[in-house]
Amino acid sequence: MPRFLLDCMLGSLAKWLRLMGYDAAYAQLQDDLLILKARNEKRVLLTRDTELVRNSRRKPGVCTFLIKSTGLPEQLREVTRGFNLKLKDVSFCPLCNVELKAVKKSSVEEKIPPYVFKTQERFTECPRCHRLYWRGTHWQNFKSTIKGVLSNSKEVVLTSQDEVADCQVDKGQQKASQ
Ligand SMILES: [Zn+2]
Repeated sequence: MPRFLLDCMLGSLAKWLRLMGYDAAYAQLQDDLLILKARNEKRVLLTRDTELVRNSRRKPGVCTFLIKSTGLPEQLREVTRGFNLKLKDVSFCPLCNVELKAVKKSSVEEKIPPYVFKTQERFTECPRCHRLYWRGTHWQNFKSTIKGVLSNSKEVVLTSQDEVADCQVDKGQQKASQ
């Protein structure tokens, strides 16, 4: 299964790949460091920068994939086609890029809105930021967008980028370390 490293122009694409279930790191680094990171971590470097692609091709052991489109649905289509990606059962945290772990419904009752508790059965948690995720309305929209992308439909309606995940929103508990 491919793991990815996306350059700073592709933050939204990284989020979507994470929700699809792929390890998609995102970094704002100089070209040389980006190439080094991709090689050390055995990640495919995704970029829209032709200069970066040229540079990376001079280094052995780095796989680079040039994204040609500017729009998100087309970018997703390029990657899913290029690497034969599917929508997987697991997701990575869109913020931390860490695989989400299933948690018991009974353990989340006090942390989520009552309506969500009533209507959802499956919950996952990010081991790093401890946000809880569930597959509500935003997830359904996300899923149909991905299906459109995978089936090559021309009319892909894009969910707003900020609404790709149903998750618990921190209120006043922004981490002091950030
Ligand atoms: Zn997280």
